Amino acid sequence: MSPVETQTQRSKKKPKPKEVGGSLLLFLVALFLFNLLILPSLSPKPPQVPYSKFIKQVEAGEVERALVGPNQIQYILKPKAGTQNQTPRVFVTIPVALDLDLPKILREHDVEFAALPPNNTGWVSTLLGWVLPPLIFFGIWAWLFNRTQGGAAALTVGKSKARIYSQGNTGVSFADVAGIDEAKAELQEIVDFLKNTDRYVRLGAKIPKGILLVGAPGTGKTLLAKAIANEAGVPFFSISGSEFIELFVGVGAARVRDLFEQAKQQAPCIVFIDELDALGKSRAAAGPFPVGNDEREQTLNQLLTEMDGFDANKGVIILAATNRPEVLDPALRRPGRFDRQIVIDRPDKSGRKAILEIHAKHVKLAPDVDLEKIAARTPGFVGADLANLVNEAALLAARRRHEAITMADFAEAIERVVAGLEKRSRVLNELEKKTVAYHEVGHAIVATLMPGVGKIEKISIVPRGVGALGYTLQLPEEDRFLMLESELRGRIATLLGGRAAEELIFKEVSTGASDDIQKATDFAERAVTLYGMSATLGPVAFEKIQQQFLDGYPNPRRSVSPKTAEQIDRQVKEIIDSAHQIALSVLQINRDLLDDTAKILLQKEILEGDELRSRLGQVKAPPELDSWLHTGSLNSQQPTNSVNEI
Ligand code: ADP
Ligand code: MG
Ligand code: ZN
Repeated sequence: MSPVETQTQRSKKKPKPKEVGGSLLLFLVALFLFNLLILPSLSPKPPQVPYSKFIKQVEAGEVERALVGPNQIQYILKPKAGTQNQTPRVFVTIPVALDLDLPKILREHDVEFAALPPNNTGWVSTLLGWVLPPLIFFGIWAWLFNRTQGGAAALTVGKSKARIYSQGNTGVSFADVAGIDEAKAELQEIVDFLKNTDRYVRLGAKIPKGILLVGAPGTGKTLLAKAIANEAGVPFFSISGSEFIELFVGVGAARVRDLFEQAKQQAPCIVFIDELDALGKSRAAAGPFPVGNDEREQTLNQLLTEMDGFDANKGVIILAATNRPEVLDPALRRPGRFDRQIVIDRPDKSGRKAILEIHAKHVKLAPDVDLEKIAARTPGFVGADLANLVNEAALLAARRRHEAITMADFAEAIERVVAGLEKRSRVLNELEKKTVAYHEVGHAIVATLMPGVGKIEKISIVPRGVGALGYTLQLPEEDRFLMLESELRGRIATLLGGRAAEELIFKEVSTGASDDIQKATDFAERAVTLYGMSATLGPVAFEKIQQQFLDGYPNPRRSVSPKTAEQIDRQVKEIIDSAHQIALSVLQINRDLLDDTAKILLQKEILEGDELRSRLGQVKAPPELDSWLHTGSLNSQQPTNSVNEI
């Protein structure tokens, strides 16, 4: 599905400088080799003699004449009897450096000697020696320069690098995009405008100039933009925000100018700027030091100017995509610029099913595959994840020599995407294995009692992914958009279940729980600083949300007084401590089950299906669980020992 790309007109008119650079280089190389190899061999070479032999010959009185040069001595021997009429043979020797005795020796033995006249081919090599190296450097430079410019000469740096897809020939249609129906519907309006400009203009309607697609990475923003171009059947300029920015100040602005000039000539058309945040970061957020931001700022200014200076009703529509709308310069978002925002959400269950159907079209499915079930088991997956999932399943099926992709392939593929590749090569010793087994069963038992954490599908002590030595696979039963306070608490307790099991059984803890502890602490901190779940601190936000669509970026704290900071810390610790306590007491009353299940797990390495379900069906709840979950020690202010330690 590679799109047909057409070169911009401008670069077609010029002769290709690439070829010139290539043949120049070839010529230089040839010249160099000629100088090095051919020239010296043109004159016949006299036989070479070791210096010591030469000295011996002098001392024996055999040498008649010698021409002494700094690097070479040429000499002829005295003619032997009977050979007087022949031209004497010339011998060559290379003198040992700085033999100051040589003239004396020669004089003593009556050799006729003189200085060697300068080499007659010398001027050529001298000239070449001076001229060649710069030429070679120039050649290499020209070649590299041409290569990096992709065939454009130095004068075209200011030209936009937009790829132009003629008549929207991007190879993607609306049918290839699924699960984001609202966004699609909104964009249909734009398509309609581009197709029937007259109808809108007659009524005096104004179409938005700029449309900003925002959403998490992989939700299909780029895909959607390509689909629009295809549906509208107009030229589609596609460029990434980062492609404007160069080392040289002013280039970006020139590129923006050029892009809009081309777009106006080709109207109606769509200009798509992907990853707009690379270019349109807020100028206010740049910090107190303006160093290095000149280029971006100029480029941004140029973009703002260009957007003001054209009329959308002429049929140029600017589409941009970003996953960080919050960092965009406010000037970009005011009316008349990117005034329409289209949010692309993560797909819901039916959306995921539709996306899976699209990607499953290209692969061979076994009859047992139920895409609906797969969609149900993959909440939070975006389009790109689902595309990847189908591909992983296909790869697995091929490796297992299946005729078609089965449901089992999909199950394993989901695990791969969620937990990483199996790593059977990572061999654990007996104690480590035992620790991991108890740890994972601990998670599973605690999770069984907690609300809203999903069903435990599988426990495994086969190492996977980057660091997991074992894992408990928990798949949610439905899409959730809110988390209740009790569920949040249940999650924290579940995360600490592994560590609690280690404490209970081994009376000693390992480093294996660090990831769980990290996550539990993050949850607890968010409960206090973001969700307002602490009674002491109340519904006050102590964190600024800065990343709406990118997970995993920590938010900065608001500036708080030291006293408040201390209170936040205390609350976080209290939440963690009480969850830890509940996890411990759950495991205590299920001690036998924990032991049993861990032993079975050690033998089988993987527990799933009915066996796992019947075991977890036996889990008993401690009496205090219900009140802990619902009356909430998130709110409790009773001091505990650990709190006093802070
Ligand atoms: P974004 O630009 O939002 O980061 P992309 O548009 O580049 O994401 O999506 C990457 C890939 O994921 C697409 O090429 C497509 O294969 C798949 N994909 C994403 N969203 C969808 C969707 N809604 N429907 C079908 N496929 C999708
Ligand atoms: Mg993209
Ligand atoms: Zn764990």
